[in-house]
Amino acid sequence: MWHVIVIGSGIGGLAAAAALAKRGRRVLLLEQHTVAGGQTQVFRRHEWVFATGVHYVSGVGPQDGPESQFRRLLDWLGDGTLQFAPCANPYDVVRLPDFEFGISHPEAAYRAALHERFPSETASIDRWFHACHEARKAGTTLMASHQLPAWIGWGFRILRGRQADAWSGRTLADLLADIAHPQLRAVLGARWADYGAPPAIAPFIEHAWVTGAYDGGAYFPVGGPARFAETLLPTVRSAGGECRLGADVRRILVEEGRAVGVEVLRAGSVTVERAEHVISDIGVANTLSCLDGSVAGEWRQKASALEPGPGFVALYLGLEGDIVGAGATSANHWIYESNDIGQLWRQPADEDAPGLFVSFPSLKDPAWQGPPTAEALAVVDRAAFAPWLDKQHSADDYPAFKAWVAQRLLGQFERHFPTLAPMVRFHEAATPLTQQRFVRAVDGSMYGVEMSVERLVSDALRLRTPVPGLLLAGQDVAGPGVQAAFMSGLMSAATLEPSLWRQLSG
Ligand SMILES: Cc1cc2nc3c(=O)[nH]c(=O)nc-3n(C[C@H](O)[C@H](O)[C@H](O)COP(=O)(O)OP(=O)(O)OC[C@H]3O[C@@H](n4cnc5c(N)ncnc54)[C@H](O)[C@@H]3O)c2cc1C
Repeated sequence: MWHVIVIGSGIGGLAAAAALAKRGRRVLLLEQHTVAGGQTQVFRRHEWVFATGVHYVSGVGPQDGPESQFRRLLDWLGDGTLQFAPCANPYDVVRLPDFEFGISHPEAAYRAALHERFPSETASIDRWFHACHEARKAGTTLMASHQLPAWIGWGFRILRGRQADAWSGRTLADLLADIAHPQLRAVLGARWADYGAPPAIAPFIEHAWVTGAYDGGAYFPVGGPARFAETLLPTVRSAGGECRLGADVRRILVEEGRAVGVEVLRAGSVTVERAEHVISDIGVANTLSCLDGSVAGEWRQKASALEPGPGFVALYLGLEGDIVGAGATSANHWIYESNDIGQLWRQPADEDAPGLFVSFPSLKDPAWQGPPTAEALAVVDRAAFAPWLDKQHSADDYPAFKAWVAQRLLGQFERHFPTLAPMVRFHEAATPLTQQRFVRAVDGSMYGVEMSVERLVSDALRLRTPVPGLLLAGQDVAGPGVQAAFMSGLMSAATLEPSLWRQLSG
């Protein structure tokens, strides 16, 4: 009998498990994959090591206050050895045809640079940043009223409920429509792949939140993203907890209406583990698929109205030589083939991606030991991979399709970085099928449930589920991003162990 079972070792599950361990709880963390960390895991090919779901994080700077809250909590929960290195500043570079703009932190510097570059647009730039500020406050109210203890959420709603309602229905496209200058519009909207919904769908609140998060700087974990799991798991073990890999949770057991444990398939055997509480970090759809159909019908109905978000194709590139000398930096590149930044990649084998995200993780990590790497990523319409995701097509034709897509992406990378092209020694693509296989992403989606205005206010995505004893954590609850998923894990733990709320607010 465990105090708590956590399903899924993504950063949300790790945070929940470590926080509960800090309060002396024995936690069993179950992970279906052979590697812990979910999307913070890394993998090796030959001498190159690749990060999967982390290019930069916020909240870990040296300053006091909310801009370093993530780092303080990691220090407290982990073994104290996790450090972060600053990325280049400008940290995000937007590249349009014949135009480039570097986005710097703090936000005031970004705003000043926009004023300088678009002097005729200062009024609309100021209106934009004012809107971002207001939308973030509205986002905080929504988050508080959905996820924090009822009395806190109630206070927020009394004070700012009307403002939250006014902002929650507005998309990024609604706000971009007020920007007349096409290049300014593209720069302001460019970074939607950070949460995976194109402007027509994305809530403006989410855009304001995610882009504003880097006000205090953009950072990369020293030693790579695998350090999250490496530094948090010792805390879980120190309280008598365990992390079992290759442990596939097939069912969440519900007795007399309450979650009491799980059924796990591991090394060919099915076993039952029982606990006082279960926290699920595997996304809402996966969680529901582990519950009998008769359980929580209304929740199931509400959740099924939410679509998975788009998928992505990533090209992992192993390079050789002096890539800094050839122009690479530790900034992220947001490259668009036109000023229309709102398109998904619909025909990945037959056309270039309309937008490409390129990053050089080996330059972000001062502890990097191997040869240099690059990652090129494009957000793709899942429909392009649906025949294989739905298993209608024979798997035999998948490798050829994947190879075509990889060649497209490689060609596009080489066109945009001609001086790096001769240094490429290795490439391998990941597709929505990869995401489905290794982290069980539903339909291979990039960030779980689609980040839409409906999702933002959905009752199906709460920390407390309608099944007593069962809580959620992870990106479906808190929104995409390492910091957000981490905070959701902590809040889930605090819901069980209220003394943790104080730690969170300190
Ligand atoms: C390509 C890409 C780039 C990204 N870049 C950034 C970035 O630069 N900065 C940033 O902040 N965020 C980034 N993100 C987002 C961030 O990585 C995720 O939002 C976050 O890591 C999600 O954490 P999680 O805890 O919700 O779950 P996940 O990391 O998805 O983990 C869920 C875990 O549950 C396991 N699981 C599923 N089903 C079962 C089961 N039945 N039994 C047992 N285990 C199960 C899975 O194997 C997985 O390990 C990126 C994501 C992607 C895909």
